[in-house]
Amino acid sequence: SLLLSDRVNAIQPSPTLAVSQKASELKAAGHDVIGLGVGEPDFDTPEFIKTAAKAAIDAGHTKYTAVDGIVPLKQAVIDKFKRDNQLDYELNQILISAGGKHSIFNLLSAWLNPGDEVLIPAPYWVSYPDMAKLVGAEPKFIQAGIEQRYKITAAQLAAAITPKTRLLFLNSPSNPTGTAYSKAELAELAEVLRQHPQVLIASDDMYEHILWADFPFANIAMAAPDLQHRIVLLSGVSKAYAMTGWRIGYAAGPAKLIAAMKKMQSQSTSNPASISQYAALAALNGDQSCIDTMVSAFKQRHDYLVDALNQIPGMRCIAGDGTFYTFANIEQMMADKGYATDIEWCEALLTEAKVALVPGTAFGAPGHCRFSFATDLDTLKEAVKRISAFANN
Ligand code: PLP
Repeated sequence: SLLLSDRVNAIQPSPTLAVSQKASELKAAGHDVIGLGVGEPDFDTPEFIKTAAKAAIDAGHTKYTAVDGIVPLKQAVIDKFKRDNQLDYELNQILISAGGKHSIFNLLSAWLNPGDEVLIPAPYWVSYPDMAKLVGAEPKFIQAGIEQRYKITAAQLAAAITPKTRLLFLNSPSNPTGTAYSKAELAELAEVLRQHPQVLIASDDMYEHILWADFPFANIAMAAPDLQHRIVLLSGVSKAYAMTGWRIGYAAGPAKLIAAMKKMQSQSTSNPASISQYAALAALNGDQSCIDTMVSAFKQRHDYLVDALNQIPGMRCIAGDGTFYTFANIEQMMADKGYATDIEWCEALLTEAKVALVPGTAFGAPGHCRFSFATDLDTLKEAVKRISAFANN
């Protein structure tokens, strides 16, 4: 028999991909399945971005580039941080990678040793714990429930840090909860982190632009400029510009760490696709109104969905600040209907009502399920109808 590595045996395949796989199988078998599992915008990549990619091909930008990305794109990322976040970076502090996930993987590979602890606020994005395990580190969770809008407090953070803690993940606005931290809340977390200089902060800003909170976007580097030398900002073009398939992410941080991440990349993937880099360049430097169009659609769907779900007996969700997800607490419904776990509940919903959701357990928050509303309003209305029927049955 084939003996696989301990490394690969320590991790699980992405559970969100598993749900969409099961939904696809049902669809292929002729069932009318509504998939609210996937985490990508339903919009097409804006036309001007596609045009830039076609022009890049015609101009012969089809060869290797610098490992860390073309200079104009790195400059566009610097300009973005200046424009949107009032933060200053140099070219040697920026690394372009093959998607946001790749940026995170490079960071973990370059920063963590086996046995190091990684603090992950839960609910979390599914990939953080397994990516930490992949490099031998130990994920440690800080639980934040619905009553605290799924956000950790400074006191919780202080209690969770140990001498072995080397990294803290922050993700705001959050996948899966849709809630965001205000600048003041981040400043409180920063106050704790100042006392623990061994902890690096990974700020995953992937949903920065998909935000409608009554406060402006902030990340921890904006809230605590004195900590910038201990912060890595992680983002990409996947969500804001409907470019999930192009695979471009970027990281900004201390030059020495970025150089180490670049070294990892140089011996694994090399440069991200040249054509995608030119597309991302157009996205970052182009007319940003394409984002507004998508965000207003997401907001409209969010408002409808949160209201409609709260009318379903046993289901409870809070208004989010952004993203295209809402996270519903289903503990009451599970109890009423006799489901022991959210996984069983989601399986029953898929089989009986033909609606695919991701169980909260995948995000470290049992008793919940995640709705992606990256789909049109009519589909969402049909999904709500089916879930109501399932709940009232
Ligand atoms: N970070 C968060 C919070 C995400 O939700 C995602 C995608 O689902 C990513 C990072 C990774 O994005 P990409 O598709 O660019 O790898």
